[in-house]
Amino acid sequence: MSQLQHQLDWLKKQGLLRTLRCVDGPQDAWVTIDGAEKLLLCSNNYLGLANHPLLAEASSRAARDFGSGSGASRLISGSMRLHHQLEERVAAFKETEGALLFNSGYAANNGIIQGLMGPDDVVFSDSLNHASIIDGCRLSGARIVVFPHNDMAALEERLIVEQHQRKGRWLIVVDGVFSMDGDIAPLNSLVALKRRYDAWLMVDDAHGGGVLGARGRGSAESLGCLGDIDLQMGTFGKGFGSYGAYVAADRAVIDTLINRSRSFIFSTSLPPAVLAASLAAIDLVDSPEGAKRRARLESNRELFSHILAEAGLDLCGSTTQIVPVLIGEANITMRLSEQLFAQGIFLSGIRPPTVSAGTCRLRATLMADHSAADLRRAAETIIRVVSEGNNERARQDELS
Ligand SMILES: *Cc1c(COP(=O)(O)O)cnc(C)c1O
Repeated sequence: MSQLQHQLDWLKKQGLLRTLRCVDGPQDAWVTIDGAEKLLLCSNNYLGLANHPLLAEASSRAARDFGSGSGASRLISGSMRLHHQLEERVAAFKETEGALLFNSGYAANNGIIQGLMGPDDVVFSDSLNHASIIDGCRLSGARIVVFPHNDMAALEERLIVEQHQRKGRWLIVVDGVFSMDGDIAPLNSLVALKRRYDAWLMVDDAHGGGVLGARGRGSAESLGCLGDIDLQMGTFGKGFGSYGAYVAADRAVIDTLINRSRSFIFSTSLPPAVLAASLAAIDLVDSPEGAKRRARLESNRELFSHILAEAGLDLCGSTTQIVPVLIGEANITMRLSEQLFAQGIFLSGIRPPTVSAGTCRLRATLMADHSAADLRRAAETIIRVVSEGNNERARQDELS
């Protein structure tokens, strides 16, 4: 135990110790933490659906009608009518033959890659892919070839090299929207490459689903290649305001995963209340209200990133509602995030192992429910706190 404490003390000294903050109330634009009001700038409740009355109502009704638990895994008795309804709805939404639910995005990425790939196969994985993709690759036993972030020439080089010894299946996997940089994968180039080299393409659209594309189908819709992605993975916990995840794909993929995917097979299925909320969320995303919420989020994004970029801050190439501000060192990043918190702005400092050393950042995530006035004030506060931090550092450098 004292050895653990020793490690924790060391993490703390490096600015790497992680602790929890307790949020009172729902995920609104403003939340209460330790009795004080904070502007919430680090929730993935992008469209405001996590606290939408229609979802809460659908959830309560499903709990009343079908109970609180699903009782078993899908392959035993836990494949309830609502699971099948939601899967059909997802397949229609994504325009695929089928869809399969997973209990979370983390479980989905683990289970999809492990279920489809094995030791004779190769996974080509973007260097900034989400941790759950990395873990899925490891679990599969496949050869993992990491290519530099969004670098299509480098990916093609690696495809050419691997071709000489090709035995099994190939999978190229990327985040649709990269969660720590807020940029979008070049999906059209990836589609061309996966065709040229006979690979599957899997896109994790945890941050694009519901949000991007005219109809909220995600990053692939926004780039006009929805029908070209072999495996469309998405989650319900972010833009959709519910919980859980899915993959939409051909029937043969779905049936293979039902038979092979360990995170699907060996886990109790999602409960009725969650499924009903996800169904209601897709309806909302598909409605005029959904379009209005997407438009509000987009204008919030334009406003907020414009002010920060004008001030010369480095936004890591963000083009979406995820807006990081590059700082660099972990201790400084965490101090700035504490200062912002003290001034009523709750956003997260991101540090290793989530991002690589030296690229720590303050990461803001925007919501449709933020007001323009709040975002303007927040952006100005961020600019001031960061520039005071820079001045402070310059003074210290002069002294030393
Ligand atoms: C959040 C996230 C996940 C995990 O989804 P959960 O449903 O929260 O487990 C997977 N991939 C990406 C890119 C994510 O941002």
